[in-house]
Amino acid sequence: MSHSKVRTRIAPSPTGPLHIGTARSALFNFVYARKCGGAFILRIEDTDVERSEARYEDEVKAALEWLGLTWDEFYRQSERTDLYEQRLRKLEGDGAIYWCPHTMEELGAERAHQSEAKAPPIHQCEFRDSGKPVKGAGVLRFKNNREGEIVFRDAIRGEIRTRSDSIGDFSVAKDFRTPLYNFAVVIDDADMKISHVIRGEDHISNTPKQLLLQSALEFEPPAYAHLPLVLGPDRSKLSKRHGPTSLLEYREQGYLPEALINFMALLGWHPPGDTDVFALDDLIRDFGLERVGKAGAIFDIEKLNWLNREYIRRRAPEKLAQDLTFFASQWADAIDADSERWERVVALVRERLTTLASISDAARWAWEIPDYDPELLRWKGEEERADVYRHLTAVREKLSALDDWNSSSIEAALRPYAEAEGRGAVLWPLRVALSGEKNSPGPFELAYVLGKRETLERIDHAIIHSS
Ligand code: GLU
Repeated sequence: MSHSKVRTRIAPSPTGPLHIGTARSALFNFVYARKCGGAFILRIEDTDVERSEARYEDEVKAALEWLGLTWDEFYRQSERTDLYEQRLRKLEGDGAIYWCPHTMEELGAERAHQSEAKAPPIHQCEFRDSGKPVKGAGVLRFKNNREGEIVFRDAIRGEIRTRSDSIGDFSVAKDFRTPLYNFAVVIDDADMKISHVIRGEDHISNTPKQLLLQSALEFEPPAYAHLPLVLGPDRSKLSKRHGPTSLLEYREQGYLPEALINFMALLGWHPPGDTDVFALDDLIRDFGLERVGKAGAIFDIEKLNWLNREYIRRRAPEKLAQDLTFFASQWADAIDADSERWERVVALVRERLTTLASISDAARWAWEIPDYDPELLRWKGEEERADVYRHLTAVREKLSALDDWNSSSIEAALRPYAEAEGRGAVLWPLRVALSGEKNSPGPFELAYVLGKRETLERIDHAIIHSS
């Protein structure tokens, strides 16, 4: 390794919310830095003033913090204009860049011409060697004099070769105080002593340009690793069709950060063990670029849902109850008044939650007298109404005589009757009476959590319904 200390970075442009591909790059950079005892840097690439917005910078930071990917140093490109200008002036002095005054329209026409003649879309600028400064619109272009190929070793893909004449002279700045992406990145990566650039495959074509600039500025290039693209299950570019693309949307929908970390790690990286479930610390221990594949990483929301259920199950009960309060805000007052009951409700439904937001449906029975079709009380839709009435009345009688109220005493009070009369015929209508739903926790647990008074009230309601 050429640099003594590992320093990685994530360099989002604040032109939209942090999406899953960039968050995955952030994760790999963070983990790699932590693993090597190095530093992880957040650099906001806001040189595109028209498209950059402060609120997106805030969102990016909020999303990274939520994931636990905390940065050691922070930079904003818009505050580094002097440095870029100084380097551009140096290149100008060296004759390595020139003003190209052509308008977008002219360049477009040239390109169309080239495409017709099946020639590479390379701008041939008559000003490159004139040595004369040109005033007016246009850009500063890098004079690419390299012959043959530009070669670099990618930690994931091996050697990558690009013909220099397929790149031509490329733009580096709109003017001395407005650098463009490839130039600002090169200056910053060198100035911030970035040792490893780990980023998406979509940047492979930028790398040779960055290498040319590094060479002109006598910078030592960092190591490069280009991560496979994140694709939808149909192998198309990831889009809203496949699931939320913005990280904060996942937070709003009630995904746990642990689940997302785990999920994103599997987007390209292959864990060495036989489990797909691991925490950030395990990842830091086991991560290595040699286990990152080249093939497109498939984004499968079902996998994320599975992991989220897994982490919901693993969450400490009090912590989970606390997290869920936010998502059950419609019952906030009731929860505040009886947090113990809330914890019992949560314990009962946690196995059923895919996201934290699904608590709204899964725990509705705990707060609302359910409004259901009385037909639902009939076991398999076949039980006679008279029998439903008879069983509910018998169950009510046994429960009202019960003093000691917990799931096992409730079960003990009802079991013999249910065994004698048919388990489904007795317990199904009771469960529906208490939850109003086809799918819910079992009747003994429901009765326990609801408490005696409410249980009897709901049975009464069902008796009236079924008669
Ligand atoms: N601002 C670039 C992006 O958001 C950074 C690319 C890089 O990592 O060099 O894609």
